[in-house]
Amino acid sequence: MREQLKAEFTKRIVALQARVDSIHDDFAEGRAADWSEQAGERENDEVLNALEVEAKIEIQQLSNAITRIEAGTYGICSACGDDIAVARLEVQPSATKCINCAD
Ligand SMILES: [Zn+2]
Repeated sequence: MREQLKAEFTKRIVALQARVDSIHDDFAEGRAADWSEQAGERENDEVLNALEVEAKIEIQQLSNAITRIEAGTYGICSACGDDIAVARLEVQPSATKCINCAD
């Protein structure tokens, strides 16, 4: 179960990293012709930047989750020590608190 989760998270990190890399490629190559017609370049930069920030945050959360899996603390609420509901983890794999302790 834990090994499976770890493999799943690792796969998502790889996919997210690929997305970040392709965003960098877009920046490096300049915008495709059809893009520049749709919106200002600046706007595109902001969208790409937001996507990249989002992906990086998720990568960070997933790697934290992997660290907790390895430490044997994954799925345990960091505030009260209870198990975090599986349904909650499915929605938010990087959750560190149970539904009662979550902000
Ligand atoms: Zn709790």
